Formats: sequence, C-alpha cells, structure tokens
Amino acid sequence: MHCAEVGKPLIKFNHCKKSIYSFGVPQRCPLCQKDMGSRKLEEAPVSIANPFTNGHQEKCSFLLRPTQGTFLREYDGRSDLHVGITNTKGVVYNYNVYGVQRDGTGWEQSISVPLLQPNMYGLMDQWDKYLEDFSTSGAWLPHRYEEDGHNCYTYALTFINCVLTTEGKEPLDKSEFTEKHVVPRTRLASKYITVYRATEERGFYVTDHADRERHPPSSGGLC
Ligand SMILES: [Zn+2]
Repeated sequence: MHCAEVGKPLIKFNHCKKSIYSFGVPQRCPLCQKDMGSRKLEEAPVSIANPFTNGHQEKCSFLLRPTQGTFLREYDGRSDLHVGITNTKGVVYNYNVYGVQRDGTGWEQSISVPLLQPNMYGLMDQWDKYLEDFSTSGAWLPHRYEEDGHNCYTYALTFINCVLTTEGKEPLDKSEFTEKHVVPRTRLASKYITVYRATEERGFYVTDHADRERHPPSSGGLC
C-alpha cells in the first residue's frame, strides 16, 4: 500500500436519496443518523477510482505532477505542472533548468499516461537505453532550457515522438497530445480533488444522484 502518497481511499454510498462520499463506511448515515449496518443492495458502498498513481511504479509512462507540492494538497487547477518519462525501473527522467534529472523519488502522486501497448516487449527491452541516449543529447543541456519554448514538455514530447517514429507511427504535436491524453485525466483529477478535500474537511461530502461519478477511461497506448 502507498496510501500516504496517493491519499486515503475514497468511497461512495447512497443514503437519504443522496450520494455520500467518505473515507470508509460510517456507522451511521451522516445525514439522517440511521444505522448503516443493515443496508440494502443499492446502498452498498463503492470505491472511487483514484486518478493518482505512484509514478515510480509505472514503467515507460508519461507522468504529470505539480511543479510545487502535490495534487491533493496544493494543486489549484492553475498551478504549473512538471512532466517526465519513466524508465522500466521507475526512474523519472525530466528536464528542467539544471538539465535532465533522473529522479528516484518525488513522483509518488502523479497522473500517469502509459506510453507502450502491453504487447510491445521488443521496445520495452530497448526503452532504458533509448531514454538514456536521448537524454544525453546536447539538446537537453541546462543552458538550452527556456521556460516557454524548450522545457520539460518539449523534452518529453520529443522523446515520445522518437518512440512513435520507431514504431512507424505519425508524431503528435503538443496540443494533440494534451487534448487526447492529458486533459481527460486532469479534468478527472480536478473533480476527485474537490471531493477529496471536502471530505477531508467535513468527514463526508454529499451530492445529488444526478451528479454521477465518472470512472477514468481505460488506459491504453499512445495511438
Ligand atoms: Zn441517511
């Protein structure tokens, strides 16, 4: 378990014609105070999918996290995000003003986009070498860094496009990649953060049934 990094597990149950979120099933309904022991099937609690993963346990993935702090505590929807790419051992390669960093910690609460289809073992064998060779190229020296034009995103996307080219696929531009892979996940994360923080503050969070919780899309490769 790595609850400390990705937060406490959030559950949802139905009572009083409402959807109620909490960290674990309470003895009594927080709205009507009735005993929750003998509940009907439709009141059975379900766990809410956590949009965050420990990036150091993800192989060959694109990761996102706030540049400062964590999603659950500090992220406000406008915070700067930092991105990186994991190798097969969970080391996160990322580019900043100091050049390419190889982080063994610090990405425990990330949004992850897997970059390889599960059947691409050939490429996975080469992944660490590709990533290392790519990272030692002169393009990613510290003095080349520019906050707006040549940053962590440029580094990660250039690498992803090298992989796609190797696979004989078309490269993606930044807005295409963001629209297709990043925005759906950050949108989901923002909803989760809202519910999580409200639950943490009051012990529970209530919505009408109409406000249905959506589950994250099943993860796939890049294309
Ligand atoms: Zn109730």
